[in-house]
This record gives sequence, structure tokens and C-alpha cells, in this order.
Amino acid sequence: MPALLWFRRDLRLRDHPALLAAAESQDVLACFVVDPRLENSSGQRRLQFLGDTLRRLQDDLGGRLLVTRGRAEEQIPRIAKKIDATAVHISEDFAPYGKRRDEKVCAALGSVPLVATGSPYLVSPGRVTKDDGEPYKVFTPFLRKWREEGWRKPAQSSADSARWLDPAHVVKQCAIPDPGVELGLETGEAAALSQWKQFADDGLQRYAEDRNRPDLPGTSRMSAHLKFGTIHPRTMVAAMNLGAAGAQTYLRELAFRDFYAGVLHYWPASAWRNWNSDFDGIQTDTGAEAKRRLEAWKAGRTGFPIVDAGMRQLHETGFMHNRVRMIVASFLVKDLHLPWQWGAEWFLDQLTDGDMANNQHGWQWCAGCGTDAAPYFRVFNPTTQGQKFDPAGDYIRYWLPELRGAEDVHLRKGERPQGYPEPIVDHGTERAEALRRYQDIGS
Ligand code: FAD
Repeated sequence: MPALLWFRRDLRLRDHPALLAAAESQDVLACFVVDPRLENSSGQRRLQFLGDTLRRLQDDLGGRLLVTRGRAEEQIPRIAKKIDATAVHISEDFAPYGKRRDEKVCAALGSVPLVATGSPYLVSPGRVTKDDGEPYKVFTPFLRKWREEGWRKPAQSSADSARWLDPAHVVKQCAIPDPGVELGLETGEAAALSQWKQFADDGLQRYAEDRNRPDLPGTSRMSAHLKFGTIHPRTMVAAMNLGAAGAQTYLRELAFRDFYAGVLHYWPASAWRNWNSDFDGIQTDTGAEAKRRLEAWKAGRTGFPIVDAGMRQLHETGFMHNRVRMIVASFLVKDLHLPWQWGAEWFLDQLTDGDMANNQHGWQWCAGCGTDAAPYFRVFNPTTQGQKFDPAGDYIRYWLPELRGAEDVHLRKGERPQGYPEPIVDHGTERAEALRRYQDIGS
């Protein structure tokens, strides 16, 4: 009897436990459902990454991938019925929308079981808890327990693990999304594996030193692949020498990814609301002037070089270095006094790696209202941050052509080049204002 393998954020064939579970049935139909609600809310770059990855997966399966459009709770039961499936196999999704969708699919399937095996994480949300079963709110003790919990070896799956059913005539196929966006990065499983190999061979060694430097190619750029599951983090870790320099620092970042997935799983409302409700009373600016400032921030025209360089990198490529994400987020919240949700929304629109757990909790960390967040009173100075992490100014010069000829790209001295804006705010004044607003909620 056939089984249905429903791909979602696991667009690969290797190290795929749900594929192995499905392959216990004789025949497997592979499918992906393009959900119009996700299509409408997804940034164009993510849709392109998804579409390109699906085309590669379809090739890897010799064309035997059914892609259909509609609500999963209607499409999946319809396909399951058509092929008389004994079960529908998935990798577990822990994000709020995914969990609600899967509950509906499960109910609509009736007697056909929806079987979850594996997840996109090293350690799935819910497995690492305090001794009393409560979720961790602080990263460091979570990390300790997370290491103790550990993970399995990669699952030995491949295209040959199953006998794939021909999807022709099952239900109407749809065109795979192709919004025509130039991504500038390779998609699909083979690209993910080769990118990881290259970084593990050449970059990992220096990761601890270089990861905070946006002017150096110091990070792995694996985030979009991890987001769409073209590689499992377990495969990445299995290829690392955990005793080597850089490896433990890298592992810690993967633990952050698991931590935030857990935070969103336990506190789904924290997707758009302050995780720490003490911050609900903080005064933010939302009027016409605030909107004008938001537009200057989005366009990379705030007059603060490191902020503008980051915002232009984001707009032009769909990526921004982690250190710069922190700087521009702090600037939006503490220098411009805008709601963090405004910045998070723009990030989700632009980022190829945009991910609810990492993005919303990355923002809440910077805004001070998240789990063990940066203390609100620690306000980044954008100029000194630029000097410290882009010391020769190469990153700024690359993204801000107006400053290429400037004597000092951090603009501490010399004339402001023509065409580059004056600072839209005074950092010292706004820092004091941020602290005043923060003290107000404490009193
Ligand atoms: P590397 O340094 O090579 O890290 C390896 C992997 O570890 C990353 O690919 C990512 O999966 C994970 N990781 C690294 N740092 C973090 C972190 N702080 N939190 C959680 N996971 C992490 N990451 C996203 O994947 N999607 C987002 O939408 C996102 N939004 C962010 C928003 C803000 C305001 C901030 C401060 C951070 C955000 N991050 C997000 C985390 C981080 O910036 C990116 O994961 C990282 O820059 C991706 O580049 P990389 O793959 O080269 O990272």
C-alpha cells in the first residue's frame, strides 16, 4: 500500500527521517502543497528560493514530485484518498502557523494517520526542559542541557530509499513559483552540501575570530538552506571536527536556532508581541515623522554609515551580516524609537533566510523585550560599532558608493560627501531619550 510524503521545510533527500518512515511502505508519492496564504505573506526572495529548490528536488526525484496549489487541509486528504495512502509522513513543524495547519490536516485526514518523524532542528522544541518540565527562558542553561540531550547520527536516506510513484493524473499539478527574482545564490540540496563542505574546510577554523566582521567572509551563509531544510544541521555537525577551533562557536549558533524555535513554540504569541510584557508600556513613536524615519532606515539613508551599509546590503541582496542586523535593529528601536515589529516586518519582506523564530526573537533580543535579551539600557553607538567591526571601512565602502572617496568612512572627521545625508537624529540625544522611556516603564 502506498504512503504519501509531504515535503515542507525539509526539501532534501539525504538525512531525511520522514522519508525513511514513508519508505517502509512499498510505494511513496512525494508532494508539496503551495499554500496561497504562505505565498502571499512570503517575501519574493523566499518564494524564489522555494521555487528554485522545488525544481531541483523535482529533478533529483526524476520528475516524481507532485506540486499542487491550495489549502493543505483540503489538498493533502484529497491526494491521500486518490492514492489510497496508508499514512501521510511529515517532518514536524513547530512554528505557530505550521502547527495550526497540521492540526487541521490531521483532523481532515480522519482515519489516515499524519506521522511526524524528525524536525528541522538538532534537538526539537520540547525535548530540552528544566527538571520540572518548564521551558528555559535563559540561553546558557538551555545550552548546557541541550548538549547533554544530544542528537542522533544522520539518517541514511537518499533518492534510492523509496519506490516513487508517478504523480501524473493524481490531482492537478500547478506551476512551481517563479517570481523572477535574481537571488545570487545557489539553491537545492547539492548546493547546500557543497557550500557547507567549503565552509567546513576553509572558514570554520577562523569562525570564532571572524564571525563578527562584516568586512570578511567569516560566516557560513547557510541560513537560507537551514530555513528550507536543503540540509539538516545534523549532517553539518557530523562533518565537523568538534574539537577544532571554531566548531564549538558554530555549534552554539545552531543551539540558538533551536532555542528560539523552542521559545516560539512555547510562547506562540511572541511572534508579534513582546515576550516580556513589562515592555508593553514602553512609549514608541508611530506618527508621520516616525514613518518618514522608517523609510530613511529602509532605504539606507539615515546618515549613519554602518546602518546604511547594512540596510543597502539587505535591500540589494536579501542578506545582512548578523552583527549589522544587531546594529540596525538597535538603531531602529533605541535611536528612532519605533516599534520593533516595524523592523521585523521589513526584514521578513526582504530576507531570503527570513524565519519567524530567528527573526522575531533576534529583534526582541535587540529591543530588550525577549528572552535573556540585551539589557535595554545598553544602547549601541552606531559609529563606534562601525569602527570596531569594520575597522578599515571596507564593508561600508562596498555598500555606500557615496563614501568611497571619503577620507574617513565612519564620518568622524572631514566633510560629509555630497549626496550622503546628514544624520537623521543625534545619537547622544536619542540615547538619553531611550533611557528616559525605559525608566518610565520601570517606575
Ligand atoms: P552563521 O554565523 O554562519 O551561523 C550559522 C547558522 O546558525 C545560521 O545560518 C543560523 O541558522 C544560525 N544562527 C546564527 N546566529 C543565530 C542567531 N542569532 N539566532 C538564531 N540562529 C542563528 N536568522 C535567520 O536564519 N533568519 C532570520 O530571519 C533572522 N533574523 C534576524 C534578525 C535580527 C534582528 C538578528 C539580530 C538576527 C537574525 N537572524 C536570523 C540570526 C542571524 O543574523 C542569521 O542567522 C545569520 O546572520 C545568517 O548568516 P550565516 O548563515 O552566515 O550565519
